Amino acid sequence: MSREFTTAELEAYLDEALTPEEMAGIERVLRKRPELLRQLSAIHSRRDAGVHTLGEIWRRHRISCPTRSHLGSYLLGALSAEHADYIKFHLEKAGCRFCQANLEDLRREQSESNEAVVSRRSRYFQSSAGYLRNDR
Ligand SMILES: [Zn+2]
Repeated sequence: MSREFTTAELEAYLDEALTPEEMAGIERVLRKRPELLRQLSAIHSRRDAGVHTLGEIWRRHRISCPTRSHLGSYLLGALSAEHADYIKFHLEKAGCRFCQANLEDLRREQSESNEAVVSRRSRYFQSSAGYLRNDR
């Protein structure tokens, strides 16, 4: 599972010259091993000056994004440490804009739903307070 990849294999990956199964196999390993991404990044920058950062490689090769529900669990701190680390890496090191936007949206949704609960509660208390006053 954590076998080493040859430079030739990694170059073929960058060229998207592998079968979909082979591409998926490399991506699975890349997700677990950030140092392989650095290796890819080094190969790539030796070959052309177009792509420099891990984030660009990540985006360019579309290594799978976490699902929205996983991002939601991440926000709530409900994931295993390993899973949370992967998402943190994806958001911060790989700098996936798509997931960053998704997370921002989820954060807004959560705080809006909290506000809605608070305002419903305060309406409820106001009306029952009014009711109690009138009843006295
Ligand atoms: Zn993403």
